[in-house]
Amino acid sequence: MTTDPITWAEISIPALKNNLNVIRQATDNTKTMLVLKADAYGHGALDLAPHLDADALAVARIDEAKNLREHGYTGRLLLLSPLITPQLIETIQDQDIEIVLHSQSAVEHLLSMSLSKDNPVPVWLKVDSGMHRLGLNIDNAETFIDALLNKQGIQLQSLMSHFASADDLSSHQTQEQLSKIQKLHKKYPNLAVCVANSAGVFFHPDAHFDWIRAGIALYGINPSSHETELTKQLIPVMTLKAKVLDIKPIKAGDSVGYNARWTAHKPTRIAVIGIGYGDGFPRHAASGTPVLIKGVEYPLVGTVSMDLITVDIGDADIQVDDVATLWGEGLSTRKVAEFAETIAYELTTRVSQRVKRIIKK
Ligand SMILES: *Cc1c(COP(=O)(O)O)cnc(C)c1O
Repeated sequence: MTTDPITWAEISIPALKNNLNVIRQATDNTKTMLVLKADAYGHGALDLAPHLDADALAVARIDEAKNLREHGYTGRLLLLSPLITPQLIETIQDQDIEIVLHSQSAVEHLLSMSLSKDNPVPVWLKVDSGMHRLGLNIDNAETFIDALLNKQGIQLQSLMSHFASADDLSSHQTQEQLSKIQKLHKKYPNLAVCVANSAGVFFHPDAHFDWIRAGIALYGINPSSHETELTKQLIPVMTLKAKVLDIKPIKAGDSVGYNARWTAHKPTRIAVIGIGYGDGFPRHAASGTPVLIKGVEYPLVGTVSMDLITVDIGDADIQVDDVATLWGEGLSTRKVAEFAETIAYELTTRVSQRVKRIIKK
């Protein structure tokens, strides 16, 4: 016999499919790469992959890629940030995985290996157009592109670059990065280009090129505070829920929780809810963070504990065993993230293993 969970995350497959359609509508004929790194931003990569009809999936670590292969994903699969070693090359050839070369040393390392022309290594070359994290310096990329094109046993699939500020429509950085990429693209018109993240998909149509790489939008979250007709159609895939474990009246002047960080100014009632930082609910969520119960938002009060939070429900008609929504359908994950001084990406990614994922088909 199984017992009902106290804390769970509902994962909506119809929402996932809707979001992929929205991304496709935003990008016309562009090929779609979907980013499923970090267990699909905490949603569960193995649960989602069978429902995704994309041109390629991308992950950040070799074990994530191997796991998808072991569980039957047979489509194109890209490893975003590998360290190039002979063992890695053997594994990716064995498992039919494509890799990103993201530094001069990675390129030089691969060029120095003796590779068979019968089973060429599929590589995507990442150039740094201004983010200054990963990527080959774009100003001297040509030498390396030429070397890769001429090297036996390497198949150069596409140029790549990543935006630093595509979610911030007031920033000029995206345009600056884009003009550098366009300049390089003019020199290699036959090479595919892959640049746009989710924010690029919705807010920078000039950045779509041949391939887009979307993550957060697939999970139904707008990457930016700016909205468009299309971003409004995104539906959250994850809705995090937990049950009310107790309700207790408190007097004016009573404080609640560790270190008495919140004190009631008038008599009220506190709902104790079965979720905490042990589940991935952020400990930094401030008093006032909204919690949705029976369609109404109530403020979290006091310090978040490992397994519990406390919510000021006043005289609302709420009982033990009622269900609270922490984020997702009905309560914007972006909004909750702001109260915890983080971003929605971190909230979903950090939902811990003890939270049961319930897949809704
Ligand atoms: C995570 C990641 C993405 C996806 O970004 P979103 O903002 O989630 O769409 C795209 N490209 C690279 C290289 C990434 O690491």
